[in-house]
Amino acid sequence: MEPKEVFHYFAKISGIPHGSGNTRELEAYCIGFAREHGLESFQDAYGNVMLFKKGSPGYEDSFPVILQGHLDMVCEKEPACPLDMEKEAISLRTDGAYVWADGTTLGGDDGIALAYILALLAAKDIKHPPIEALFTRDEEVGLRGARMLDASRLKGKYLINIDSEEEGILTVGCAGAVRVSAQIPISAGSAYGCAKIVRIGGLRGGHSGIDIDKNRHNAAKMLGILLDDLCRAQDIRVASVCAEGRLNVIPQTAEAVICFDPAKQAGIEDAVQHFLEMLKKECAAVEPEAFAVLEEAALPEICADAAGTRDVVFALMQAPSGVYAMDPDIPGMVRTSLNLGDVRLEERVLKMGFMIRSNTDFGKRILVRQLTLLMEHMGGEIQLEDDYPAWEYSRRSLLRDKMVQAYQDIYGEDPKVCSIHAGLECGILSEKLPGVDMVSFGPDLENVHSPAERMSVDSAKRCWEYLLHVLRLLK
Ligand SMILES: [Zn+2]
Repeated sequence: MEPKEVFHYFAKISGIPHGSGNTRELEAYCIGFAREHGLESFQDAYGNVMLFKKGSPGYEDSFPVILQGHLDMVCEKEPACPLDMEKEAISLRTDGAYVWADGTTLGGDDGIALAYILALLAAKDIKHPPIEALFTRDEEVGLRGARMLDASRLKGKYLINIDSEEEGILTVGCAGAVRVSAQIPISAGSAYGCAKIVRIGGLRGGHSGIDIDKNRHNAAKMLGILLDDLCRAQDIRVASVCAEGRLNVIPQTAEAVICFDPAKQAGIEDAVQHFLEMLKKECAAVEPEAFAVLEEAALPEICADAAGTRDVVFALMQAPSGVYAMDPDIPGMVRTSLNLGDVRLEERVLKMGFMIRSNTDFGKRILVRQLTLLMEHMGGEIQLEDDYPAWEYSRRSLLRDKMVQAYQDIYGEDPKVCSIHAGLECGILSEKLPGVDMVSFGPDLENVHSPAERMSVDSAKRCWEYLLHVLRLLK
């Protein structure tokens, strides 16, 4: 398969198990590769690998270019696949048009970046500026390698991240994010009457960044509306609440245990039925499978009292979630959003978790403030975790201009230039490497992070030629 040198290294990488947290052998391979090719290398304390190659003749004094990809892959396999992905190599397959792995993820995300870069470092006949190859660890588990990066050895003025999955798109910005967890004290007493579970489900959910503007309904927010209905009509008490748990996923299900006077059961059934009709009418186009049901429950020991129940409903109804602002520079693109991704009422504490994303740091700060005020108002508090900056769109970028020009030269048309409303390593790298001009691109990869992952061979070939042309232009 062409390009031979790229697929040679892709096969080598695929022969070494390299799931997140299991990349020591691949790191050692890269360091050994540098030794074999007479290249300088450096591994920082966290294990991120850097390899250095001088510019080719005529390019010795050009600004160095950082070429970056991540070492780790997501290990997923089909239920019937017997492979131990911790220890055994995946089996590559191809029909000439696509490459995939038998029963497992391919690791094209992000093995193709490493294959390109190693092929380039090994080559003797390619024109390029000085190259600083940066292979980060543990990208797929919270961008840890990038967070821990010791960037002191990197002098590059440009950074090309090869971790995008659609040919023809140049990514020039990404969202920053912060996880917010809130705790609100809830007054409670002993349970009474009888108990039922109210459950909302069948919602589509989705990624809290990429899908936040697709009108998906958040099950935790819907549960807030239903509980408000029940409180107003039937004077219920809430004993527990549970919705999802992953902040980067829009909740698909949510449930609460409620206590009430058994004489009111018919009224409660009516209210749930009424809510379901409203839900179906309101969101038929987006959420055709939505349901709300009442199920049996054992009587809990304690439940929120009347004031505590009002606080739970108030918090669910007032918690912001969804798109906060659209981007004025890029039409149709979300700038700032948040997702209420985790809700738990256990005994006397209501816990809520949010993922705030923003392509500007200003937007993120405003939402943190809004949540702080809401929680303080309710006598609660918040903690921030995993705060990382946005990779903000820069109006001037020489690298972007060169990459657009190279695209026009090779493809005869303009690439799509866009930002994404999700996290990339470039967000963290933009803070570690201030002033470095960055663009992300990559060949067509389908169904990444699933055993159906596959890579287009033609696209991998075109993107290789494109990368070489970009490097030629960066004289
Ligand atoms: Zn990736």
